[in-house]
Amino acid sequence: MDFKLFPKLLTQRHRTCGSRDAKFLRVNISNNNFAPLRLCVIYFAIIIIFFISCKLSEPYRTETALGTACTITLYEYGRAGIYNEVFSRIREIENLMSVNIPASDISRVNLYAGKSYIQVHEDTFKVIDRAIFYACLTYGAFDPTVGPLINLWGIGKGNARIPPRGEIEQVLPLINWSNIVLDFNTNSVFLKQEGMSLDFGGIAKGYAADAAVEVLKKAGINRALINLGGDIFVLGEKPDRSSWRIGIQHPFEERNVTIGYVQLQKDKALVTSGIYERFFEKDEIRYHHIFNPANGYPTNNDFLSVIVIADTAMDADAISTAVFVLGYEKGIELLRVIQNAEAIFVFNDHSIRTTSGVNFTLTDNTFTFKN
Ligand code: ADP
Ligand code: MG
Repeated sequence: MDFKLFPKLLTQRHRTCGSRDAKFLRVNISNNNFAPLRLCVIYFAIIIIFFISCKLSEPYRTETALGTACTITLYEYGRAGIYNEVFSRIREIENLMSVNIPASDISRVNLYAGKSYIQVHEDTFKVIDRAIFYACLTYGAFDPTVGPLINLWGIGKGNARIPPRGEIEQVLPLINWSNIVLDFNTNSVFLKQEGMSLDFGGIAKGYAADAAVEVLKKAGINRALINLGGDIFVLGEKPDRSSWRIGIQHPFEERNVTIGYVQLQKDKALVTSGIYERFFEKDEIRYHHIFNPANGYPTNNDFLSVIVIADTAMDADAISTAVFVLGYEKGIELLRVIQNAEAIFVFNDHSIRTTSGVNFTLTDNTFTFKN
């Protein structure tokens, strides 16, 4: 592969109080307009108390979706039901794109592989289109047709095993993003070969995080933290205008044990691909869930994790998976051709490197920061 070739209120009746220069206004409370004003005040007080109680009673909510814990934290008053709206949007995406849901778009496309085009929801179509973009850009290091490999290895599904080499070689020809055909007129998808199957594990959570952000923005919420199992989006600025501090997970410790943190300003996604998410071990070798489509085995390089910061979570998700597969040198090359994408690389010798635009602070002295 030659990676140098990357393609690149209230209206008030008022009178001026005191002298002409007075800078403030006073509400005219003559008898004939006192009643409507009082009603307005009561009305607004009710709304404010309502919003405050919403905020105080439920600053965040966690639910399980997309096979992971998803937490939405609001830093601004949210209307009643906003969490329900966000989570039903996330579930809508799960129902479209999960391979574990037989009626999902993805399951239907897979079922009809080699047989016919299947019309899909525009969300699904957008994700397929973007997945193909990254597959092309990375010469297949990111490949949404890894489904047969995921099934063969069963990692994270309770039936994990090391498949015989012959079985891996048999499915390798099915891992080929260029055999996905899109019909942009009808939002239809066709997989050219029978046995091919799509898997959106490397990109769908990111899309769902972006979709959650859209629901919040439409509801007028400008400050929030979205965390879909580690796919993070920081919406707007924190109330005190300090930067967001996002912890970087320790690869071998329990959840929320961090090795350092990144400071983000606003409207940024941060997504991690790591060997510690889903894996099994045999004879002291770890087999994890990020596959090298070129050989059919879990990607074997010196990464423990790759963290990508980008403008959308869908992009950060695909890029983190891709960079993980590509390795450091080619990964850096890919990040150079993508605008507004930064990364943190955590290596198995416990060294950490970042690209130039990352504000990272190391807090765990068993790791070394090598920039
Ligand atoms: P996670 O989903 O655990 O946060 P990733 O975003 O790196 O981590 O995605 C890993 C998932 O992506 C795998 O579980 C699998 O479903 C899918 N996948 C694995 N290898 C590839 C690959 N080379 N290209 C695209 N998707 C992949
Ligand atoms: Mg990913």
